[in-house]
Amino acid sequence: MTSIGSAFDESCLFCRIVAGQIPATVVRDSEEFLTFRDINPQAPTHVLVIPKAHGYRDVGELAAKNPELAGRLLAEAAEVARDEGLTDHADISGYRLVFNTDDAAGQTVYHVHLHVLGGDALGHFGSAEH
Ligand code: AMP
Ligand code: ZN
Repeated sequence: MTSIGSAFDESCLFCRIVAGQIPATVVRDSEEFLTFRDINPQAPTHVLVIPKAHGYRDVGELAAKNPELAGRLLAEAAEVARDEGLTDHADISGYRLVFNTDDAAGQTVYHVHLHVLGGDALGHFGSAEH
């Protein structure tokens, strides 16, 4: 828990998951990142990869403040996708990474998180009606 340091926000849902105060199905736990299953999955595999530290509300802030951490977050997500079997799936391989950013994208938790989606054909994101 040393990596949390002072960057812990008691009112933040994902900080509380990192601290073990709220249960989650954790699939990967490294020094810098926690990966757990989304409670409302939008694909057969849907996990969230988060930096354990609070302090970055969205991907833009993360990239501006700590581009090295942003790069390592992408690498972590790629390893998670591989470990989840998304890169060598028997029927259909591949995955989608999503950072929802602010209201228009429906961001609900302002502790940066990377969605990893896969396990099925996902459809082209531009094909949804709007
Ligand atoms: P976003 O809409 O990009 O902010 O994503 C937040 C995600 O967190 C949503 O996909 C939610 O389903 C997910 N979520 C909310 N509460 C929990 C929880 N307790 N455990 C796991 N995932 C959660
Ligand atoms: Zn937080």
